[in-house]
Amino acid sequence: MKNRYDSNQAQRSINAYPDQPEALSLRVYTSRLIGSEADLVLHGGGNTSVKCRVTDILGEEKDIIYVKGSGWDLGSIEPQGFPGLDLAYLRKLRRLGSLTDEEMVNQFRTHLVNASSPNPSIETLVHAFLPHTFIDHTHADAIVTLTNTPDCEPLLKKVLGDRIGILPFIMPGFPLALAVADLYEKNPAMDCIILLNHGIFTFADEAKTAYELMIDYVSRAENFLAEKTRTKNPVAALGTACPDTDIILPLIRGAMSLADKNGQTFHLHLRQNEKILAALGRADARELLVSGVLTPDHVIRTKNYPLWLDFTHDGNEQQMTRRIADEFAAYGERYDAYFHRQLAAQKVVRTKLDPKPRVMLVRGLGLVTAGETRQAAIIAADIAEHTMAAKVAGAAVAPYRELEESSIFAMEYWSLEQAKLGKGHKPLLAGRIALVTGGGGAIACGIGRKLLAAGARVFLSDINQERLAQVRDMLAGQFGSTMVSSLVMDVADSRSVQQCFSRLIREAGGLDILVPNAGIAHVAKLQDLDEKIFYKVLNVNLMGVFQVIKAATPIFTRQATGGNIIINSSKNVFAPGEAFGAYSASKAGAHQLGKIAALELAPLKVRVNMINADAIFDDAGVSSGLWDVVGPDRMKARKLDPAGLKEYYRQRNLLKTEVLADHVGNAVVFFAANQTPTTGATLPVDGGIMAAFPR
Ligand code: ZN
Repeated sequence: MKNRYDSNQAQRSINAYPDQPEALSLRVYTSRLIGSEADLVLHGGGNTSVKCRVTDILGEEKDIIYVKGSGWDLGSIEPQGFPGLDLAYLRKLRRLGSLTDEEMVNQFRTHLVNASSPNPSIETLVHAFLPHTFIDHTHADAIVTLTNTPDCEPLLKKVLGDRIGILPFIMPGFPLALAVADLYEKNPAMDCIILLNHGIFTFADEAKTAYELMIDYVSRAENFLAEKTRTKNPVAALGTACPDTDIILPLIRGAMSLADKNGQTFHLHLRQNEKILAALGRADARELLVSGVLTPDHVIRTKNYPLWLDFTHDGNEQQMTRRIADEFAAYGERYDAYFHRQLAAQKVVRTKLDPKPRVMLVRGLGLVTAGETRQAAIIAADIAEHTMAAKVAGAAVAPYRELEESSIFAMEYWSLEQAKLGKGHKPLLAGRIALVTGGGGAIACGIGRKLLAAGARVFLSDINQERLAQVRDMLAGQFGSTMVSSLVMDVADSRSVQQCFSRLIREAGGLDILVPNAGIAHVAKLQDLDEKIFYKVLNVNLMGVFQVIKAATPIFTRQATGGNIIINSSKNVFAPGEAFGAYSASKAGAHQLGKIAALELAPLKVRVNMINADAIFDDAGVSSGLWDVVGPDRMKARKLDPAGLKEYYRQRNLLKTEVLADHVGNAVVFFAANQTPTTGATLPVDGGIMAAFPR
C-alpha cells in the first residue's frame, strides 16, 4: 500500500481551513488519505480522531477531542464532519463499571462543543481513552484477512512485529474502549492495536506518524499475503457457463421481493470481472466464500452470509426457477433459526429483520447484490467484492475463521440500529424500476421527475440521443445520476427493444413500471397522407407500444410481483381532429392494445391503464416532439403566436387551466403506486374536454 503523505498537500489543508485548529486541518488531510483507499475502509467504515487545546467562548482553554461523525465518509470528510467533545469529561466515564450504548450516545450529545454536530463515532471512547493526539482506525482488508484465521496471534506477531497489541473481538462501545485502554497501559511501547475479526488502530502524536504506521502495518500484511499467494499452488478451477441474465436476474429479483411482507421490491446490482469469476470458479468456492463477514459492521449491509447459486445442472428456466425458490427458502430458514437461537441465548427482545440475502454468488455470472435503494445494492457489491478478494488471499494462508454468531447478532440487532426501524419516511415508489419511452420529450420530463420524486429508479429511452441526454442530464442534476439512466432505443425495431431491455435487466435486475410514451405526429388529410409516412407513424405509435409491452411481459412473468403499464395515450382517441388521421388512428390502436394487455396481464397482477393528455407544449426548456410538428400548423390556422396558442388551449378546456407535463407525471405515479384496484381504465389529463370524456 502506497504511502501518499505529501507535506505540501498537508500544508494546503492547513491553509484551506484558517478558522480551524491546525491539528484538525491535518486530521482532515490524513483522514481523506485513508478514506481514499478502498482496501482500508469502505463506505463510511473506519474512524479517526485528534485531540486539540482550544479556547472556548469564555476565553478558557479546554481539551477537545474531534472524532469522525456518523454519516461522514473519511474520503470526503470536512472539519464539520468531526464533532468536538469535552475530552476531560469523556475520560471520567472510564470510572463507570458499565455504560449502555444509549446512555453513551446521550453522554456524547450532552458534551458536544457544537450542538448541531452529528453523533460522534460509536468508537469515540477508544479514541478518548488512548493518550495520543492522532488515532487512526480502519478495517483494512489485509489485516482482517490475517485475523480471520484460526489461532492467528503468533501469525500476527510474525508478520506485524512485536510493537502490536492484540485483542479478541469485543463489541464496539464502552467495553471495547476499556479493553483497549487497559491493554495499552500495560505496554505503552505499542504503536498499534489489532482487534480480531474487526480491524486495526494506529496512534501517534503527529498526524503523519499515525498515518504512516497504518500504511506500514497494512503493507506488511499485504506483502505477506501476496507472497503466500505467489508460492501456493493454484486451486483447481471448474469450467462454468454463464447463465442468461435476461432470465436469471428477474427470477432473483422476484424471489427477493416476493416473500417480503411489506411488498418491498429491491434494486439488483451485477458485478462481474475476471477476479470475481475466477473466485467463483474455484473448486472450493462454495466452502470458502459462503462464510461470515470480514468485520461485523458489514453485516448491516450484506447480512452475515451470501447466498450461493449454481445453475450448472439446470437445463431450463423451470429448473432455474425451482433452484432459486429452494435456495431462498433454505436461506430464510437458516436465518430464522439463527435469529431465534440468538434471541433465546441473549434473552433480548428484537424486531426481526427481513431474512433475505443481500449478496448472491452466482457461479459463472458474478456477484449479484440487492438493496432497498440502488446505493445500498452498490455498497453491498463493493463490500462483497473486497470480502471475496480477502477470503481468496487468506485461503493461501489458512482456513477462514468467521466470527461467532452471537457477536454477529449483537451487531445486526444492535439496539441503536433497532431504534431506527420503521422511522424515516419511505418514498411511495422506493425500490421500483421504471422505463419511460420517448424519454427525450417534454412529457417524459414530467413523468421522469415525478417518478424520481416518488423514489423510483428511472430509465429513459429515446431514438434521439441528443434530446435524451438533455432530459437525462436535467433529471440527474436534480435527483442524482445513480437514479436516472438513459437507453438509446428505437421502439419500432424489435431488435433494438430487445437489446435495451437486456441492458436494463443487467443494470437494474428487472422492471416494475413501463410507460410507453414514445410517439410521433404528422399533419395531413387522408387524401394527402403518404403511405410510407403513415406506416412510420404506425410503427412508432402503435407497433412501438406493442414491442415494449411484449418485451416487458417475460420480465413481469419471471418476477411474479405484479407491475404497471401506463400508456401515454391521447385525447385524440376519443376526440379526433381532421388532418390528424395517422396520429389519431395509431394512438387509438395503441389504446386498444392497452385494454387487451389489461385483460391478458391481469393474472400476473400487472395493471394496464391509459392517460389521455392534451396540449402539453414544453417542460423546463424541452419541447414536445408532437407540438414541434403540430404547433406551426395550428398557429397559422388560428393566426396565433406561441403564447397565444397556449392561451387558446387553456381557454378551450372546462377548467380553463394549462396542462403541464408534471400533471401527467402525477397521474403516472398514481397508477404506479397501486392506489386503487384499477386496470383497463383511461384517465384524462386535459383540463376537461367534453368531447374527449372517456366512454
Ligand atoms: Zn471499527
